[in-house]
Amino acid sequence: MTPSVLTVAGFDPSGGAGVQADLRVFASLGAAGLSVATALTVQDTRGVRAVHPVDAAVIDAQLDGLFADASIAAVKIGMLGGAAQARSVARALNLHKPMRVILDPVLASTGGFSLLDVPGREVLLHELLPLCDLVTPNLSEAAALTGLSVCDESSMTQAGEKLLRAGAKAVLIKGGHLSDAPTDVLFRPGKPPLAFAGARVATAHTHGTGCLLSSAIAAFLALGRDLEDSVREAKELVARALKTPVVAGSGRGYPGVASAHARRLGRLEGLYVLTDPSPLPGRDPETLVRAALAGGARVIQLRDKTLSTPDLVRLAIKLNGIAREHDALFIINDRVDVVLASDADGVHLGPDDMLPEDARRLLGADRLIGVSAGTVEEARRAAPHASYLGVGAIFATATKSDAGAPVGLGRLREIAAARPGVPLVAIGGIDESNIADALRAGAAAAAVVSAVSRAADMKEAAKRLADGFKANRLLTAPNA
Ligand code: PLP
Repeated sequence: MTPSVLTVAGFDPSGGAGVQADLRVFASLGAAGLSVATALTVQDTRGVRAVHPVDAAVIDAQLDGLFADASIAAVKIGMLGGAAQARSVARALNLHKPMRVILDPVLASTGGFSLLDVPGREVLLHELLPLCDLVTPNLSEAAALTGLSVCDESSMTQAGEKLLRAGAKAVLIKGGHLSDAPTDVLFRPGKPPLAFAGARVATAHTHGTGCLLSSAIAAFLALGRDLEDSVREAKELVARALKTPVVAGSGRGYPGVASAHARRLGRLEGLYVLTDPSPLPGRDPETLVRAALAGGARVIQLRDKTLSTPDLVRLAIKLNGIAREHDALFIINDRVDVVLASDADGVHLGPDDMLPEDARRLLGADRLIGVSAGTVEEARRAAPHASYLGVGAIFATATKSDAGAPVGLGRLREIAAARPGVPLVAIGGIDESNIADALRAGAAAAAVVSAVSRAADMKEAAKRLADGFKANRLLTAPNA
């Protein structure tokens, strides 16, 4: 069953914050979203003008219904609207005792409009906070809840410790409003504070950012990640979303949450290294993959037709873990079953492999499906079912005996000009001397086997290829 995550939050008609934002996050992470609105706000992209709390008896009935019906893996609590609504939520938590409850203590909008009055804040602090597994105040919320001035690392620590003494099981104080880097700090009883560094994204379109972070933490917990991983991944999700804002009015826009597929595809760029079907002695796939990633490869493809299925799955799980440490994509050639068994990012399909539309049915919407295409016609046919196209062999290659005659950079240009609507990966005979040409011809990534696996120094070879690609990336916009 798909894990269910419940948000109990405010309704924002402009769609950027509250339940709509939370449901977008749940959907993007593959969790089933449930929602109970605590209050209707009157707001548009220019700000909040009024708050109308929902009748507490309606909230009671909705929560009791959902808890009786669904197996809820995590709960996110956002804007509460008033004391009666906060008490309803506390009552339901006491009665149904859900696992993994995240409280985002929303007190006021960025424009200064109060979203929870003083009696409501009292209920939040004394009745709700002790029932939650994590509370995620920003600096001003931490200040309002503790009575301290919170503006730097040491005052964050004082406030975090005070909220732990008030009964919170864990506190994440968000540093988005710090004057320097936006470092968030996690406080847990008996453990040293843990800082999560982040780079500031220059944007005015931050409406609902706190909603995204808390709902993403809840969803990652529901998917089985531990608290530290969930915070780290949620912070990355928010940072990425801030880079793709949705601006639908004359005021502030909101961070755009991409689908898991779009997030993966956004990382398909640069050097793409395949494992060698007949490796040189001492160059097992793990050694190759570690060297390639250390040199700057962004995508790894496991291609092996010799191993038994259990051994292939074991190897795939191992290589996937190594790729994740480097935030690189991990693709498996041909074997859709091994993609699923190892939780890889996607599959690459050649002409004799499963049809891409069948692979999509098995893999679902989130994973990447790469399809080999040698002609404009093949690219047009494959594109509707593919996440990306592998175009080649561009140059003559000795690694793959069935690759056929090289199609040349001209073919890559033709396919790019036909705008198949999916990124292109150049493959076949790519080396240091021509990788920049492949990029200029329209490839988003360039795939190599022997240029890394047969190099005297694999890491150094990967680095030179990756650097050649990066330098040209600055000068060239592919598909432009
Ligand atoms: N409306 C709702 C429903 C919210 O949950 C929030 C914040 O969490 C806001 C408005 C305020 O958003 P902002 O701080 O972007 O003004």
